[in-house]
Amino acid sequence: MFIDDIINRESFTLEDIVYLLSISDKLHIERLKNHAYGIMKQYTGEKVYLRGLIEFSNVCINDCYYCGIRKSNHNVKRYTLENDEIIDTAKWCANQGFGSLVLQSGERNDEQFIEFVENTVRKIKEFTKSDILPNGLGVTLCVGEQSRETYLRFFNAGAHRYLLRIETSNPDLFSKIHPDFQIFNRRIIALKSLKEVGFQVGTGVMIGIPGQTINDLANDVLFFKEMDIDMLGMGPYIIHSETPMNAYYDDYSERKREIYKLSLKMIAVSRIILKDINIASTTALQAMYPMGREAGLMFGANVIMPMLTPTHVRSEYQLYNGKPCIDEFTSDCFECVQQRIESTGRTVAKDEYGDSRHYFNKKFS
Ligand code: SF4
Repeated sequence: MFIDDIINRESFTLEDIVYLLSISDKLHIERLKNHAYGIMKQYTGEKVYLRGLIEFSNVCINDCYYCGIRKSNHNVKRYTLENDEIIDTAKWCANQGFGSLVLQSGERNDEQFIEFVENTVRKIKEFTKSDILPNGLGVTLCVGEQSRETYLRFFNAGAHRYLLRIETSNPDLFSKIHPDFQIFNRRIIALKSLKEVGFQVGTGVMIGIPGQTINDLANDVLFFKEMDIDMLGMGPYIIHSETPMNAYYDDYSERKREIYKLSLKMIAVSRIILKDINIASTTALQAMYPMGREAGLMFGANVIMPMLTPTHVRSEYQLYNGKPCIDEFTSDCFECVQQRIESTGRTVAKDEYGDSRHYFNKKFS
């Protein structure tokens, strides 16, 4: 099979990646999936690492055209959790055995917000220390573009991983899905600052943006490689009805299956090319199809981010429509997630950080 020639290459051209993302034959997709799984097994192992996700605030200064909590959506009830509630959730997360959490919010750059995040991270590290986790929970932040100084403050407070999605590496497409004040180059600078500060850095893209081509997605994979990223969190684009991009698509329901498959192929291809990074199987996959997260694991992902946001605010943090598990607090508890993961034949890493091996491999190479 020609696909075998490509997947076994040492380095990959844009054409190679376009070819892999374009395959539609069932047998070829199976071959891609199995190869990606083998690479994952060899470079990161078969364990699945968990990060409890706490969406602590839906206040945002940005206006991304695809996002349900963009500042111009006045139908959203804005909230910021109290510090104590975040700490309690973090303690619960540690007691359950998650090992790490992600603190996610809309973007704000004011000093009050920066201090709030800094203090929260410090307290989480302090209050989740135990014999099993002597340094407390591992903390990943996902709070948008900030200055290098702010990133340094967050890092010094104890966060050691940071997610900042580029959404698309095509600057023209980026400018079509964001207002003018949100600038592509500023996000690149932010990603570089995060690396300089010392974070394990994650990025990611949306798959199925109106106007996006297979070439764009192939370039996204090359972008991940060039930026030497440590973690990846990609997901299918899902429409939110209260956004300007809602109007861009008139055939979304017909394309849904194709976008889903493309998202899984993106995971597999990224795994084959980037090898030892962490790749999340995102909730957006599950939002598209109930077993979507499990499918992501079979295509080479090794991280899952179960939602631990307190129930009373969950429905106010919907970046897209149809987000799963917005009602039941226990729906993503350790046992439930464990069962779902074990149904794929994988084991769950309990009480482990599950850091990016790529980060340490490059540091000590
Ligand atoms: S995607 Fe993030 S930065 Fe953009 S509007 Fe939504 S919360 Fe804000």
